[in-house]
Amino acid sequence: MLYDGHIHIMSGADELDVSNLKMRMLKSGIEGGSIISYPPVASYTGKTFSWEERLAQVIKFAEGGDNLFPMFWINPLDYTAQFQVDAACEQGIAGFKIICDDFVVSDEHALSVIRYIASKKKPILFHSGILWDGKVSSKNSRPIEFERLLEVEGLKFALAHVSWPWCDECIAMYGKFLNAYTHSPELSVEMFIDITPGTPPIYREEVLKKLFLTGYDIENNVIFGTDCFAKEYNSEWAAEWIERDNGIYDKIGIGGEVRGKIYSENLLRFYGKSDKEIKMRLPVPS
Ligand SMILES: [Zn+2]
Repeated sequence: MLYDGHIHIMSGADELDVSNLKMRMLKSGIEGGSIISYPPVASYTGKTFSWEERLAQVIKFAEGGDNLFPMFWINPLDYTAQFQVDAACEQGIAGFKIICDDFVVSDEHALSVIRYIASKKKPILFHSGILWDGKVSSKNSRPIEFERLLEVEGLKFALAHVSWPWCDECIAMYGKFLNAYTHSPELSVEMFIDITPGTPPIYREEVLKKLFLTGYDIENNVIFGTDCFAKEYNSEWAAEWIERDNGIYDKIGIGGEVRGKIYSENLLRFYGKSDKEIKMRLPVPS
């Protein structure tokens, strides 16, 4: 089973067709995945909708096909954010997406909404790394900024794009979160890494090699994704990335069982849709 953990509703939100998306995904062997709602700001597509409309769109769209998990893109600084979280949970949202563009994750208002999402047992996918939004914004998405999430009880979160170009920092942050369990065994926050490119092809082998061979217990926490759009899902591009990644996995000795986790099981675990018990191997200084 192959899932794409990172698909956007962008332009053409009024004319989305689930069967067309599923057909295009299947061309590259993908049978489901995460559908991220239309953005809350107009800067990505030239227009936006009210949050109620964006939420209704993504819920309706994901309901139209099997194995599609709706994610609501929320601005935690919006004064109605908590209300939006309630509405999204009531309507069956699978998780939330946040891009820290003009704020940092440790902003107290943002953190209180993040805590609220964690209390609802919903995961958050954060953009991380260079941000293509035409504004001065990227440094808010550096992995080090997300260290504060250590304090959020029960949160499951993913940093997208292996935080490219700050991939080393992203892997180090993952190690930090793992090691934190040795200090506080009761800690309930969990970090995932979404390997959606991000990484231009020339960097891919280096990044996957570092990600899997650094020695951290990572195989249950990596999620595959493409960043494709729901309207014109680019199956050739998705297939190309799958082939490239599999070629790298062959080279570095990542076998079928771990690939199964990267391509589907870990996404299900992210959404709390897997009963699999995971026992983490914790890194300690030797
Ligand atoms: Zn994206």
